[in-house]
Amino acid sequence: MDPSTLVENLSHVGVIYKKRLKRLGIKNVQDLLYHFPYRYEDFSNVKKIAEARAGEQCSLQGKILEIESSRTWKKKMSLTTALVGDESGALRIVWFNQPYLIKMIKQGDFLSLSGKILQGKDGIYLPNPSFEKMYQGEENSLTHTARIISVYPETENLSSRWLRYVIKSILSEIKNSVKDPLPEEIRKEYGFLGISKALQQIHFPDSLELAKKAKERFSFENLFFLELAVLRYRMRLSSLKAPQLSIRLEYIQKFTKSLPFKLTDSQKKTAWQILKDLEKPRPMNRLLQGDVGSGKTVVAAIAVLNAIKNGYQAVLMAPTEVLVKQHFNTIWKLLNNFKLDVGLLTGKEDKFFSKKLKTDSIEISRKKLLEKAKDGKIDFLIGTHALIQGGGKRSPGVKFKNLALAVVDEQHRFGVEQRAKLLADDSSGTPHLLSMTATPIPRTLALTVYGDLDLSLITELPKGRKKIITEIVLPEEREKTYRFVKKEVKKGRQVFVLCPRIELSQREDIPEEEKLQGWAEVKAVKQEYEKLSKEVFPEFNVGMMHGKLPFKEKERIMKDFSNPVSKRRKIDILVSTSVIEVGIDVPNATVMMIEGADRFGLAQLHQFRGRVGRSEYQSYCFLFSDSPSRKTELRLKALVDCESGFKLAEKDLEIRGPGDFIGIRQSGIADLAMKSLGDVALIEKTRKAAKEIIEKDPGLKNHPDLKAKADAFQKRIHLE
Ligand code: ADP
Ligand code: MG
Repeated sequence: MDPSTLVENLSHVGVIYKKRLKRLGIKNVQDLLYHFPYRYEDFSNVKKIAEARAGEQCSLQGKILEIESSRTWKKKMSLTTALVGDESGALRIVWFNQPYLIKMIKQGDFLSLSGKILQGKDGIYLPNPSFEKMYQGEENSLTHTARIISVYPETENLSSRWLRYVIKSILSEIKNSVKDPLPEEIRKEYGFLGISKALQQIHFPDSLELAKKAKERFSFENLFFLELAVLRYRMRLSSLKAPQLSIRLEYIQKFTKSLPFKLTDSQKKTAWQILKDLEKPRPMNRLLQGDVGSGKTVVAAIAVLNAIKNGYQAVLMAPTEVLVKQHFNTIWKLLNNFKLDVGLLTGKEDKFFSKKLKTDSIEISRKKLLEKAKDGKIDFLIGTHALIQGGGKRSPGVKFKNLALAVVDEQHRFGVEQRAKLLADDSSGTPHLLSMTATPIPRTLALTVYGDLDLSLITELPKGRKKIITEIVLPEEREKTYRFVKKEVKKGRQVFVLCPRIELSQREDIPEEEKLQGWAEVKAVKQEYEKLSKEVFPEFNVGMMHGKLPFKEKERIMKDFSNPVSKRRKIDILVSTSVIEVGIDVPNATVMMIEGADRFGLAQLHQFRGRVGRSEYQSYCFLFSDSPSRKTELRLKALVDCESGFKLAEKDLEIRGPGDFIGIRQSGIADLAMKSLGDVALIEKTRKAAKEIIEKDPGLKNHPDLKAKADAFQKRIHLE
C-alpha cells in the first residue's frame, strides 16, 4: 500500500463505500489520510466506575454483566440496557434505537465505553456511549474510546467510527512510507511536525496540544502549495507574450458619445486601467470588480472594441444562456455603429446565430460558426461554456485566428480551469484576460488564490439610482405584500418571483435521479407558477423560467419579459429558479420576491436583489421565509440593512467561510486550506516560505520531491 493506492483496493472498502467516498472527492489513500477531523472529543479521562459522577465526560472500562433489549411502547423506541462492572462497582448503560447492539455485545465481553454520565430517576447512568471491545494485551490500541477521539464531518453516510477504523488501519500499515511534502529546511525553520507524526496526531492525537500542532502544519502545507502554485504561475505569465493593443481613442470616444448616459468616474478609471494593460506585451490578468448594477458591461465593451479595432478578435464567456443572449443583444446595440461581425454560441443544441451588424440575424450551423472564428471572420464571439467544451466530435471547442482578449463575466461561476481554456494560445500569443465579478474577494483570497491578479474596482453606481427597499415578509403579511405587488404591476412595472433552492441532500422524497438532474427545482417552480397564475395574480400575465426549458423557449420568455414597450410585453410577473441569478438586466422590473429566502447565501440574495433597482423607479425586494429561525432572521436582516455588496460579502464570509462564495469549492483546494484563507498571518507566512524557495530555486531543480508534489497540486487546482 502507498498513498496512491485506490480506495477500492483497501480491504475495508466495498462498492458502496467507494461511492460514498468518491462523493467527498476521496479516491485514494492519500485523500483519505488528508480527510481531517473537524473537532475532537476528549474521552481520555478514564475512571473507575465508583468514581464516575453525573455530568462528567469520561471513559469506563469493565465487563458486561448483563444486557437486554426492550421497546418502550409509548414512544416506540428501542432500548438496549446493560450493566457494566469493574472491581469498584457497576453502572447502567442505555443505548437508544440501536437494536442491533444486542447481537454485537454479549454478556462477559470487556468493553471500553465513553460518553457523558447523566443523573436518572434511579441513580446515574451512561446514555449512548461509544464503545469498543477490549482484548487482553490490546489495552493501548483503543480507537473510539478512552482517548481523544476525532470527529469527522458526517456526510455521505460515512460515520466517524468507520473513518477512524479505516484510517487507523492505513496508518499502521503505511507507517513511515509517506514522503514529507514539505522540504526539510522549511520544517526546521518553522518547527513543524514531520509528516508521519502529523498524520498520526491529527487523526489520533495523544493530546489536544499535539492535534493543534498537526493542524498547524497541514494548514501551512496546503496554503504553501497554493502559494507556490501562484508564484510559479506568475513567473510563467510574465514570460508569455501577448498581442500589444494600442489605444484607439477615436473609436472609444465615438462609442462613449453614442451611449444614452455618461460613464461614471469609476467606469472611466477602470476602462483606462484595462486599456493601459492591453498596451503591454504580456498578458493582462485583471479582475473588474463592481457591485451589481454598477455597469461593468460597458467597460468590457470598450476593451472589446479596442481589441477589434486593433485588428484582433475578442471573446466573452458568461455562465448562463439567458445572460449570454442578453449580452449579445446589449452589445449588438452598443456596438451598432461599428459594423462588426458578432457571433453567438450557446447551449447543447448545436444551434447558434451569427449576426452581421446591419443585416438581420442569420442562423448558421455551429460548424460554420467555428470555421468563421478560426478564419478570423468573427470579430467578437459571445457564448456559454459551449465555447470551451471541446475535443469531441459533437462539440469541438472554438479556435480563433487571432484572439487578443477574453472576457469572463461573473467569473466566480466558472472554475479556474474553464477560464484557462479560453486562453489557449494561438499564433498571436496568449490573449489578455479580463474577468468580471460583482462578488468581492477578500484581500487575503485575492492575494492567495488569484496571486498577483490586478484588480480594478468600480466603486459607485450610476447616478440617480434609488436604494432598493428590502423587507422581510412574515407569513401573516403575505397577502398584504401581494396587494402591494398588484399595485406596482398596474402602474406598469414588472416583477420577479424567485423560487427556493431545494436542499437536495436533505430531501428524502425526491428520487436520486431527479436530484442529480435538477428536476426537483423545476417541480418547485411549476407549483409556484400554478399558484400565482391561477390564484394570486389571475388578472396578470405570469411567465415561468427554469434551466430545463429548451433554449428557444427561454429566449422567447426573456423577450416577452424584457420588451420595454408595455403593449408588446407579454409577461408581467416572471416566476423563476435561480437561473436568473446573475447579470439579467430588465430596468422596468421593480419588484423581486424571493421565496424561501433563508435557503440562499447572502451574496446570492444580493445578486437576486440586484435584478431590480436598475432604473429611476423605486424598487423593492421582498424576502419570504416560512420558517424563520433566529439565525436566518439575522442573516436576512443584514440584507435589509445593508445595500453594499462589499459589506454583505464580508458578512457572508463570516457566516459561511470563503469557499462558497468565490466558487472555488470545486477547485480541489482542501477544506482546511479553505478555512485558513481567512488567516492573514498564516497566508503571509506561507507566502514568505514559498517565495524563499522559488527565489533560491526557480525551477525547483534542487527540490525534486517538492516539484513533483507542486506539479500534481497545480494540476489538481487548475490555477491557470
Ligand atoms: P453589472 O455591473 O451588474 O453587470 P450592467 O453592466 O448590466 O451592470 O449595467 C446595469 C445597467 O446600468 C444597464 O442597464 C446599463 O445600461 C446601465 N448603465 C451602465 N452604466 C451606466 C451609467 N454610467 N449611467 C447610467 N446607466 C448605466
Ligand atoms: Mg453583469
